[in-house]
Amino acid sequence: ALSLRNIEKSFGGNHILKGVTLDAGPGEFIALVGPSGCGKSTLLRILAGLETADSGDILIAGRDMTAAHAADRNIAMVFQSYALYPHLTAAQNIAVPLVMRRLTRARRLPFLGRMMPGQRKAVADIHRDVRDMAASLKIDHLLDRKPGQMSGGQRQRVALARAMVRRPSIFLMDEPLSNLDANLRVHARGEIVDLHRRAGVPTLYVTHDQAEALSMADRVAVMIGGSLLQLASPQVIYEDPQHVEVAKFIGQPR
Ligand code: ATP
Ligand code: MG
Repeated sequence: ALSLRNIEKSFGGNHILKGVTLDAGPGEFIALVGPSGCGKSTLLRILAGLETADSGDILIAGRDMTAAHAADRNIAMVFQSYALYPHLTAAQNIAVPLVMRRLTRARRLPFLGRMMPGQRKAVADIHRDVRDMAASLKIDHLLDRKPGQMSGGQRQRVALARAMVRRPSIFLMDEPLSNLDANLRVHARGEIVDLHRRAGVPTLYVTHDQAEALSMADRVAVMIGGSLLQLASPQVIYEDPQHVEVAKFIGQPR
């Protein structure tokens, strides 16, 4: 499970996150929605360890991760831009987090030499994990291609594979479908929900698309001006908004 307690963040004089508290159950899919600039990406970046909160606590699976280094949080994050390495093939892109993890562990070992006998096995493990992940996202046939040789939807699947391959304890997505055309987007929703179900980890999903939030999420979190005003099932959010700001935002034609 995931727990955020009273997260505060200012940039310069601007108070961006105003005491954000949120609990996500194990395997729960939460859609985070709110007007542009309300702090959604900032909250995700703080969770991922890419930014530090001014105060507040982050608990992951019961452990205090507030001060933990990004690499130790085991969080997967997929961005709108996918951020694939352009010079690497799909297979190499997917393998990066696995290779990085081996390296970090190796560095921590007091005797580097101990890694040596297992090295061949490590490489075989990585190949197998990449192939399994590619098979489950149906991108086996793309493994030797570089991002420039793939469509937007294919790149998006490679980015999902890279995020999930190391079995993260939390899955964060920041508008991962906004660069896809409408047809692909609907199809990709289903794929992400499937992936999330198989991984069974708490997921925070930022979207501007209310249809996405409605169809994918167990609960919807509405953030306005740096405060989480309501966190409830899609049905309750729509039928019984607790704040006029929530009603205004949800009721907006788009
Ligand atoms: P959008 O829906 O447009 O992506 P958002 O809800 O993700 O918006 P954030 O990117 O979290 O919004 O930004 C929240 C506010 O914090 C904005 O006013 C933004 O300008 C400001 N902000 C974000 N990052 C920084 C930074 N590194 N330095 C200064 N201000 C920042
Ligand atoms: Mg954003």
